Amino acid sequence: MSAQTPQPEPLVGGPNDPEHDPSASYALEPDYAAALTRRIVSSSGESALSISPVNGQPLAHVPQSSEDDVIEAFDRARKAQAAWARTSLDQRAEVLLRLHDIVLDREQEICDLAVWESGKARKDAYLEVYHVALTARYYARTIHQHLDTQRRPGVVPGATRIDVNRVPKGVVGIISPWNYPFTMALCDGLPALAAGNAVVTKPDSRTMLTALLGAQLLEEAGFPKDLWTVVAGPGSRVGTSLINKADYVCFTGSTTTGKKVAAGCAERLIGCSLELGGKNPILILRDAAIEKAAEGAVRATYSNAGQLCVSTERLLVADQVYDKFVQRFVARTKAMVLGPGHEWTTDMGSLISQDQLDTVTAHVEDAVAKGAKVLTGGRARPDLGPYFYEPTILEGVTPDMTCFGNETFGPVISIYRFHDENEAIAKANEGTYGLNAAIFSQDGRRARAIAREIKCGTVNINEAYGATFASIDAPMGGMRESGMGRRQGAEGIHRYTEAQSVGTQRVWGFRPPKGVSNEIFAKTLTVSARVMKKLGRA
Ligand code: NAD
Repeated sequence: MSAQTPQPEPLVGGPNDPEHDPSASYALEPDYAAALTRRIVSSSGESALSISPVNGQPLAHVPQSSEDDVIEAFDRARKAQAAWARTSLDQRAEVLLRLHDIVLDREQEICDLAVWESGKARKDAYLEVYHVALTARYYARTIHQHLDTQRRPGVVPGATRIDVNRVPKGVVGIISPWNYPFTMALCDGLPALAAGNAVVTKPDSRTMLTALLGAQLLEEAGFPKDLWTVVAGPGSRVGTSLINKADYVCFTGSTTTGKKVAAGCAERLIGCSLELGGKNPILILRDAAIEKAAEGAVRATYSNAGQLCVSTERLLVADQVYDKFVQRFVARTKAMVLGPGHEWTTDMGSLISQDQLDTVTAHVEDAVAKGAKVLTGGRARPDLGPYFYEPTILEGVTPDMTCFGNETFGPVISIYRFHDENEAIAKANEGTYGLNAAIFSQDGRRARAIAREIKCGTVNINEAYGATFASIDAPMGGMRESGMGRRQGAEGIHRYTEAQSVGTQRVWGFRPPKGVSNEIFAKTLTVSARVMKKLGRA
């Protein structure tokens, strides 16, 4: 079959619609939201109301999926996958490149919706658009490199031919979180589609609309109908049904839920990749360029109001530059512009929900009650919106405080001193997580040597997190309790395939030639093994 020609179906009355009135009782035009929610596989008759964190206004009634709906979604996806797996790699690449252009063309609509639904700053929403475009282009351009059948050396040179095929897993289940609702819903799925799979996805209930816009854009780009189906509902119910039907699961979310997902996959003996939480450190070495490090620390800590898996919650600063650095970091934090994210000028938007606000408030109150000092921030800002919280720097945090080792997932950072680099490495490796670290130093070689000592899946030098995250050829994921498997790069697509080895034996078989005894044959093999070693062969 050939990939479908794109048939854009413009959404009416979207958030960019000049008629749109933000003071109306619904933050979005009901027609716009309804056009999106029609994509959910749902026959339950139930719906859940979603609310905008920007101003607390309702956004949409989101239809919910039952267990039968999940089964239906997989049935549809399986039919679509059977045809899709027969398309050529070039056809798939073509569709990915169309998606690249479409998301860039529709940037404004995507950002508007992500801002309404998640409360984030516009610049953080834009990064989602950019990340999806980068990922689509990367897998389009490298599809042959990752998926072409590869010839490997056979046991008998010249006589054994080995071909390794990359066979799609089938239907991949993707469970995604709310913090980056566009990129987290789409990016892990693009390599799955490129590898010939279908996807059934369950985005977080709080950010269904942005994920559904992603599903619409995939279809506009030319991915066949039903190759990407969407189900909705609480993770404990719909997520579990999805794990029961999938051939592979890609999960992004908290470590607690990730362990449950892993257990469900183990029960069915299916593979999974888990992108989980972190308590990420940033190291400011004594030779760091102070202003650059302070700017980097602000981005590392407060991007997306700290609701970013790779954002920093522990700042380790060398004694020699501690006072100077902290003064610049606090000054830059105080200068940040907070507010609803519709404008580009906002530095930090809202938290997503009352739950997130409660967690952030509880972590800061607990630390302060036990003796930590607030250098700036430390309070909610209901004057800006229901869930705003100020960017907050804590000093004097000790192991008995909740925020010492637990992920806050908010705009709160604890600062610690270190005396030498061994101490910094030991502090960075404390705890059970291992997602991302950043190191600021003017000595790149030294910083890269330190990076090898840090138990994190990504380490960024003189950058907060973007150097690794936006380099799509670089594998991304967590060590220890921060995850299993990697997204991006070769690892990010090969996880969705089964490696199949096909051996073709020519000339000589695996038994003694006529008239040769087993003993002589074994001696011949021993001699040949020694010769191969001498020749340097694997
Ligand atoms: P969460 O684990 O509560 O929810 C994530 C997703 O899992 C949601 O779609 C939810 O509906 C679903 N879910 C919940 N219970 C489930 C179950 N029993 N079975 C199957 N699915 C279930 O996570 P959250 O708190 O909403 O998201 C924030 C967390 O995600 C943070 O810990 C953050 O660090 C992490 N995160 C990690 C990455 C990464 O790449 N490592 C990226 C983004 C977020």
